[in-house]
Amino acid sequence: MSMNRSEEEIVRGSFRGEESLEIPVITFRGEKDGPEFTVMSGMHAGEYSGILAAQRLIDYLRITRISGTVRVIPVISTRAFMARNMQLSPVDQREVHFYGPGNPDNSYTEFQIDTLYKLLANSDYVIDMHSGEFAQALHAWIPVPIQGSAEFQRRTLSLALGYPVEHIELRRDRDSVPLLVNHLADDGVANIWAEIGKNGLPDKSHIDAHYQGLIAALQTVGNLAGEPKRPSHTFIEGSRRQVNADVSGVWHSAVKEGDIVEPGQLLGKITDYFGTVLKEYFAEERALVLYYWTSPAIDHTRRPHGYDWHSGLVSLLTIDGASDSARLGTV
Ligand SMILES: [Zn+2]
Repeated sequence: MSMNRSEEEIVRGSFRGEESLEIPVITFRGEKDGPEFTVMSGMHAGEYSGILAAQRLIDYLRITRISGTVRVIPVISTRAFMARNMQLSPVDQREVHFYGPGNPDNSYTEFQIDTLYKLLANSDYVIDMHSGEFAQALHAWIPVPIQGSAEFQRRTLSLALGYPVEHIELRRDRDSVPLLVNHLADDGVANIWAEIGKNGLPDKSHIDAHYQGLIAALQTVGNLAGEPKRPSHTFIEGSRRQVNADVSGVWHSAVKEGDIVEPGQLLGKITDYFGTVLKEYFAEERALVLYYWTSPAIDHTRRPHGYDWHSGLVSLLTIDGASDSARLGTV
């Protein structure tokens, strides 16, 4: 009896002949037919729990028979990974998650995302693993883009149902969904991204949670045999609000990830170097704290390509109080 065929490669490219790109890809092909599923991580290269879960999946697929094709991209942003660079590309300071394919000549990041997109184009399913960067404490949750036909929405949601996290977020607003996610959905690739882990720490419980979700998703669509686990979840829906600094200084958060904040509640303060309060920040609406910046260092003027990564303080998902029971229903 033969095991899956597997092929490892480093996909290479060069942007304008100046900046090199390397993306490691391993592809497992089973003897039986089945869907094509791509698992990827390390788009944000300090989000280590996903990267280590991807390696654990590779180990498992080397010794476990599959149907169809499973492709694993353990580190998308290898230059950022090796430079220990947070969130933004070390080459051009752009945020990879916010760019789409189709403009590979425009910037290194767009070249990178275009190359990645071509690797994903034949997939039926994609899961992209994220977590909190070195400077972010993140509440574990699974955002699910709700787009396309009812059948497509059901297939997309099914990828999330095996994750051992409390919150699954149904996200209908296309403008708040990363561009690559929208492109894939438009192509009929059911895809979600998972947010588990914090502060760049390769914590075992976070790696386990990513891994358990992956195994359940692969079982759900038939790449792996077995009945997928179905832990209970709370489905949430709201709008995203990022509270940004409008002064520079030393940030002291008054909330932590997973908190529910009420209107008027103190989120935190920014002081000068000597501790004098420059500004306090308050919640305007009832909201779940998805993550907050644990780094005290805030330079609100640093906005590479307009992006507010360096001025972010708290990221919230607003919860409409009136329809709270409908929006926060445990199933
Ligand atoms: Zn990320």
